[in-house]
Amino acid sequence: MIEGAPVVGGKLRVSEVAGLPVDEGAEAMLNRRPEAVSLARAVGLSEAIVHPETIRSAVWTRGRVRPLPPTLMGIPTDLRALARAGIVSRSALARMQADRLLPASDPEPDVAVGELVGHRLGAEIRDRLVEPLLGGVYAGHAREISLRAGVPQVAALVDRERSLLAAASAAAEESRGVGEPVFAGLAGGVGRLPGAVAEASGAVIRTGTTVRGLQRRAKGWRLVLGPTRDEEVLDVDAVVVAVPAAPAARLLARDVPEAARLLAEIEYASVALVTFAFRRDAVADRVTGSGFLVPPVDGRVIKAATYSSNKWGWLAEADADLVFVRTSLGRHREERDLQRDDVDLAAVALADLRAATGVLTAPVDTRVTRWGGALPQYAVGHLDRVARVRAAVAGQPGLAVCGAAYDGVGIPACIASAEKAVTQVLAGLRRRETMAP
Ligand SMILES: Cc1cc2nc3c(=O)[nH]c(=O)nc-3n(C[C@H](O)[C@H](O)[C@H](O)COP(=O)(O)OP(=O)(O)OC[C@H]3O[C@@H](n4cnc5c(N)ncnc54)[C@H](O)[C@@H]3O)c2cc1C
Repeated sequence: MIEGAPVVGGKLRVSEVAGLPVDEGAEAMLNRRPEAVSLARAVGLSEAIVHPETIRSAVWTRGRVRPLPPTLMGIPTDLRALARAGIVSRSALARMQADRLLPASDPEPDVAVGELVGHRLGAEIRDRLVEPLLGGVYAGHAREISLRAGVPQVAALVDRERSLLAAASAAAEESRGVGEPVFAGLAGGVGRLPGAVAEASGAVIRTGTTVRGLQRRAKGWRLVLGPTRDEEVLDVDAVVVAVPAAPAARLLARDVPEAARLLAEIEYASVALVTFAFRRDAVADRVTGSGFLVPPVDGRVIKAATYSSNKWGWLAEADADLVFVRTSLGRHREERDLQRDDVDLAAVALADLRAATGVLTAPVDTRVTRWGGALPQYAVGHLDRVARVRAAVAGQPGLAVCGAAYDGVGIPACIASAEKAVTQVLAGLRRRETMAP
């Protein structure tokens, strides 16, 4: 494996805040898909698998932090809880009822999720529920993210019943019976996973080595590695390109230009996290539940705050006197907020957190983490684009692609795409061996 960064892991990384290991990137794995927890078990992390202590979230909107009612990616599944929360106005609640009366539309090939929700449930549901949830997962905008690729759970509702609300309530009812917790984490941080995988795999790994070129040969592929002034080539039987869309496009440009062209069209959002450690006695009563989301219409700088010590028991136990809060900032094409220096960024994040919660004390430690090109944006038509990329790549023996740019940005989806890619190149190699004279 060739890795450009000094360590393996990409967006999974742990580093210290106030002397404790805290995730700098992803911090939770979907538990209702098997791939991530199975991989953690397979590499010896069974004992470390944990589940959130609380998933009671909130929305900071209309001047207050309000409980997040049950939703399916922002589609309300309990109208009474929604009304009690006060997240949307009374007229928005009344407007939603029109959903049941709208004529059934033909299943759309694909639309922006915001377009669908705005049309069926009204602008407030889109802006105050769907937007902040999409902001969390994709750092993207409801008006641009593909219904079918970005929120397949919602697409399934559209295909299922005429009324979006009725379909969402029915889906919520069905999943109520599933006993498994929705999320899992790892004691010590999800960022431990890549290191454990690397160690258990026994693979030869070269870090700090950027792959700059990829060339097809009569048999196999040639990788061009390292800086231009000290170039090195490595000839291999097969390649899995497991990098974000922009570097993948550069690597595929020579031999798979159609795939490269399509990948270059995938835009990314940059994000930053500001993690604070506070003295528990100064904040405990102000920081309850798992955190809150912030709809963009409310005009704040932070888009979410996660109360990591409430969510993860291992972190609370590691130092009972500290509370960790992680704020996140940055949405697609809104990089301006991130152009502040670290001190400024931390100051605006803290100001927002104070306005939301009334926490007045100064943090004992602060860490700013920046992720440039963090999250691919699944624009309308993404599924079709990915199918065309895969078709172009499939024509090249010993080549496959995987990662967040394709079938889902979450950790289990990335692992699934990697497994698929490896299966594909191994099958190709076996075919080549059996056909060899
Ligand atoms: C702040 C943040 C929080 C998130 N939280 C969650 C969460 O809680 N749960 C969840 O499921 N998902 C979460 N995600 C999403 C998830 O972490 C990512 O989508 C996923 O980890 C991406 O994995 P990847 O392997 O596709 O890409 P990456 O993690 O980006 O890995 C790509 C690797 O390729 C290397 N590379 C790039 N170009 C080259 C080259 N030319 N040569 C050699 N190496 C190269 C990079 O150095 C990097 O290590 C989060 C993402 C971010 C940014």
